[in-house]
Amino acid sequence: MTLTIRKIIVISLIGMILLLGNVLVVANWLTEKGVPAKANWLRENFLTGSAITVIIALLILLVNPGKGRLAITRTCPVCDKRLLGNPRYCSECGSKVA
Ligand SMILES: [Zn+2]
Repeated sequence: MTLTIRKIIVISLIGMILLLGNVLVVANWLTEKGVPAKANWLRENFLTGSAITVIIALLILLVNPGKGRLAITRTCPVCDKRLLGNPRYCSECGSKVA
């Protein structure tokens, strides 16, 4: 843990505390502006059950499949050997790993 990381943690903690303290103020301000009423109207008109289902399905489909793959679980594209770490070349057949 470096000094920079500690500073970031402290600053983000302070920011979170300030934000939590102001949640009620923000909520009251939004109520004054009539945002919840508009949100209710939006929800009743557009966010039906089927729309929510479609949105969730799209979110699942749009997740990048390569993103969840860690470097530890990479395999050689030629011989399918499991590669530990992040090597540039396969230790089994010597082919380049992209
Ligand atoms: Zn290989």
